[in-house]
Amino acid sequence: TPSLYVVATPLGNLQDVSMRAQGVLTEVGAIAAEDTRHSQRLLDALGIRTRLFPLHEHNEQAAVGQVIRMLEAGQHVALISDAGTPAISDPGARAVARVREAGFPVVPVPGPCAAIAALSASGFVDDGFRFVGFLPAKQAARRARIEELRAQEVPLVFYESPHRIVECVADLAAVLEPSRDIVIAREITKIYEQIARMPLGEAPAWLAADANRCRGEFVLVVAAAPEVEGLGADAERALALLLEELP
Ligand code: SAM
Repeated sequence: TPSLYVVATPLGNLQDVSMRAQGVLTEVGAIAAEDTRHSQRLLDALGIRTRLFPLHEHNEQAAVGQVIRMLEAGQHVALISDAGTPAISDPGARAVARVREAGFPVVPVPGPCAAIAALSASGFVDDGFRFVGFLPAKQAARRARIEELRAQEVPLVFYESPHRIVECVADLAAVLEPSRDIVIAREITKIYEQIARMPLGEAPAWLAADANRCRGEFVLVVAAAPEVEGLGADAERALALLLEELP
């Protein structure tokens, strides 16, 4: 039966594309891609000639209609995003839902995913995690969202772009306990990959210490809420301020 293949593509390192992904991308009738110019470079590098067409936030309705018509006409279709696993914090999610509703099988072709890659190297051993994705762009909404997540008893996983990394880390440090650990994973699988773990209270200064640390794509993993009923975040912040004053 004609199916939609949801194909994971590399986060940066071309060698992370699976053999199955290459086979599927070669054999489908067409590939829906978030950014066709970006994805054309991937296909060229892999020597794949399949036709690409755009499926992004701004043409989603029409593009999904096109996908469904192709499936109805008996063709297989693949969905890819700019990097990693489609439909995880990118426009593919609603397309997948609509193809399912239309009654066609949706087949995952798993592979790289930024959140899972960061978690796997984070050293957080808790079982379970809360995938949050992108925080709101406006500060008030962002802080409110972090506040809502403060009591979560599992590590929190965020996506962030270089445009807002400084503000985002500053707000995490301001709202959550400064003693909680954060893992800042940037440029995963790329030349300047960097994965650093530190207490949240030190993270703003760590970013400020070197302009390169604010470049690239980021996954942030924040430790679970502290288990013991300690001082609470407000008291901890007050204590940290007082400690700074000590000689
Ligand atoms: N669906 C993709 C996935 O789950 O792998 C993510 C798509 S989302 C639009 C893009 C975000 O993923 C970036 O802003 C960044 O937070 C994260 N990301 C993608 N590639 C990355 C990389 N190489 N290193 C670190 N984070 C990355």
